[in-house]
Amino acid sequence: MDLFRRAYEGAVIAAGYAQIRLDQAIAEFGEEHRVEYPETAYFLPVIYALDGIKVETLGQLPAILNRVKTEYLRPDFTLEGAKLNGKTVLFAAEIIEACNYLDQKPYEQPWTGFLTDPVLRRFGIQLVDFTIPGFAVILGRAKDSATAVEIFRNLQSKGIMIMMCNEIIEQLLEAGMTLGIDSIAFPLGNFTQVIHAVNYALRAGLAFGGVPGGDLEKHLDYQKRRVRVFVLALGNQDEVRIAAEFGAMYLGHPTITDQPLDEGIPDLYVSEPDPKKMVALGLEMRGIKIKTLDINVPVMIGPAFEGETIRKADMQVEFGGTRTTAFEWVTMVNAEEIEDGRVTLKGPDIDATDQDGRLPLGLCIKIFGRKMQKDFESVLERRLHDVVNFGEGLWHISQRDMVWMRISKKAFDLGFRLKHLGEIIIAKLKDEFPAIVDRVEAVILTEQAGVDAEIIKAREAYNARDERMRGLTDEKCDAFYSCKLCQSFAPNHLCIITPERLGLCGAVNWLDAKASYEIDHNGPNAIIEKGRPDDDVKGIYPSVNDYVYQESNKQLEQVALYCFMELPMTSCGCFEAIIALFPEANGVMITTREYPGMTPCGMSFSTLAGSVGGGAQTPGFMGIGRRYIVSRKFISGDGGLARVCWMPKDLKEYLRGDIVELSKEYGLGEDFIDKIADEDAGHEPDAVVAYLTKVGHPALGMDPIM
Ligand code: SF4
Repeated sequence: MDLFRRAYEGAVIAAGYAQIRLDQAIAEFGEEHRVEYPETAYFLPVIYALDGIKVETLGQLPAILNRVKTEYLRPDFTLEGAKLNGKTVLFAAEIIEACNYLDQKPYEQPWTGFLTDPVLRRFGIQLVDFTIPGFAVILGRAKDSATAVEIFRNLQSKGIMIMMCNEIIEQLLEAGMTLGIDSIAFPLGNFTQVIHAVNYALRAGLAFGGVPGGDLEKHLDYQKRRVRVFVLALGNQDEVRIAAEFGAMYLGHPTITDQPLDEGIPDLYVSEPDPKKMVALGLEMRGIKIKTLDINVPVMIGPAFEGETIRKADMQVEFGGTRTTAFEWVTMVNAEEIEDGRVTLKGPDIDATDQDGRLPLGLCIKIFGRKMQKDFESVLERRLHDVVNFGEGLWHISQRDMVWMRISKKAFDLGFRLKHLGEIIIAKLKDEFPAIVDRVEAVILTEQAGVDAEIIKAREAYNARDERMRGLTDEKCDAFYSCKLCQSFAPNHLCIITPERLGLCGAVNWLDAKASYEIDHNGPNAIIEKGRPDDDVKGIYPSVNDYVYQESNKQLEQVALYCFMELPMTSCGCFEAIIALFPEANGVMITTREYPGMTPCGMSFSTLAGSVGGGAQTPGFMGIGRRYIVSRKFISGDGGLARVCWMPKDLKEYLRGDIVELSKEYGLGEDFIDKIADEDAGHEPDAVVAYLTKVGHPALGMDPIM
């Protein structure tokens, strides 16, 4: 077959070029020179995964290249021979690219070159658990920009991760497409830079499949089962590119070319000149079934848009985020109280904002379902975060009456209006929760008076949910639950949710997590049978540690559920408050997302959030849900509520009733809350300590906190 011959010729060229590039590099830098890609623990991943060799110096590479040439490169014009010639190209390209990285990062914007391990962690889990349904590599040049855009948008609309090489990148950029990490569409570069798609795919097996380097059979099996890549080869093909495509086939990833073929290889290498059909064929060849939702809205919906950020300059309108009053509230109703599919807007639409582009918002979602339960309301409510973020040009963070949302100018120009927001929510909730949701109706309020009236009812509902939690204790339950919802942006973070410790976003308590688990055993919440603790004061449980180790991508070995000075829980980015060590007072201080001022640790909330967030375990600092402060398990391993020395007035008022009750119970006295300093006492440590001394704060006389 002509293709097999061309693959061999391409492999000869690639291996020859790798030899030249390697000889030049050794002559210039010497054999001892370090060779590595930036920010990876997997050496040169193609070589490490397939051969198990941890390449660290240039001097290791000649032997590898020689062996590859001897073992794989041969004029064998069979499919197996072509795949081995393709494997030669994978090694050759990795060596060439590694040489390109000897001096410094060799690629400038818009090219990404090598994708680092943090990028791998950000999307890798979704890739291998099929939240991102597949991964397309586009090579070459489309017939024209319109065709390039058509293929690209088609892939995006299906939530496919995209990596691109060669002229397609310029075609898409010229057509105004947004490429990059926020769109899960990576413009790798030119020529051998396509190897970074391959080393990303192989690292998925190393990182998430637990496949050891060098276990070839297991890597090939993992690629086949969990990493659903297909290649779209556009425009004229040269020999090296054909050989590289056989390299992809060696790993089990098929190619669809838009060029005619005298003879194709069924299920592996096929021609499809119609760009409209290429993507469908790729999906079919990798067995990817896309669940499409029939939502007639002018923007695309899918995980490709989940990480999209909308900056102020690109924003048509924003709601909440302390700029306007805003809330979202899912409530269960009877069959006669709901009209399925109806969206009602009460107030102006997004073409009638104030001069700053702001509107108040009340997003009231009614649910009826024969199997719906009151306890499921908060689960559906929290899911609004994902549902909205999946919309192109929509951005959403936080929850309840702290929600903050933006809609982009681009979405607005495409015709997006608030009724579409309601339609997306209705369609997605019905699609995602068919077991419990039969009917959904959306009422969207954008008039201040209406929002102010309804937010009171919403807050009563939030409080009632929180109230239901009060009778439950960690000792009385048999199981805790996890929440991994935030791994989309903090890949190593997870919350452990117990009856007495809610998620740090404040929106997921133990009942929520339990309900979510019952609705969907494979969803973001998993059950952790509690078992016996190793230390019940600090809250160290072997069962929790085993789970945390696996689900944090082996980054976190232990957590102490009731401590923040030792083995604290990690923090993602959506915590309601931050607790920080206040050493001068032998206690702690707490600040909230709403409090803009300075705090006694010398940082504002936003500065603190920058150092606490991202999924790291940072003893002495921790993101928390506000209501955790009034839990009996609140840092009980570090001294509990009595340690709290400073918090903003608003937070004190929000928690006043509960703090007074607890401080009476703990023997701290009814007036303990007034011994906690706030901004009126200042934020300089000396001034705060003077206040604490004056009022006789108990922390000053406790055992040293550190
Ligand atoms: S902060 Fe924790 S509980 Fe809240 S959504 Fe994120 S992972 Fe879940």
